[in-house]
Amino acid sequence: MASSQNPMAYLLENGLRRVESERPELSNDSRYLELKEQLLRDAEGHFREIQATYATILKTQCHCGGQLEPVDHDFGKSGGTIYDSVIAKCKSCGEAQAFQFPKEGFISEARSAMAVRDYLQATYGIDYASAVRSDLEGRAVRH
Ligand SMILES: [Zn+2]
Repeated sequence: MASSQNPMAYLLENGLRRVESERPELSNDSRYLELKEQLLRDAEGHFREIQATYATILKTQCHCGGQLEPVDHDFGKSGGTIYDSVIAKCKSCGEAQAFQFPKEGFISEARSAMAVRDYLQATYGIDYASAVRSDLEGRAVRH
């Protein structure tokens, strides 16, 4: 698995490994292992979509002929629809363009992550979401 190049899958795997070391019985829980496999597969799929979007931006030329460069990420909700896009700016004229990410991978990953979270919560009383969050915060503090 290419999770070393995929920071999100790395974090998920890391969080799950931590939960597993606290609760060794999880390694015998086939339902859990199934949900985890699905989540890591979906995270990988989402990551490939993100990479493809970035590759498209780098191949796209501005109308002035300049090279586009991803500068920002825009994520939010508009009229009940979730959007997730990269803002790219032209290196020559500075004009910005938004590139929408495909939604499939994002939705699948979010759904699988919630399934794992709900299962751990309901079956073991484990708060997986906060374990991942504290990992993220731990990183933010170190940098
Ligand atoms: Zn331009």
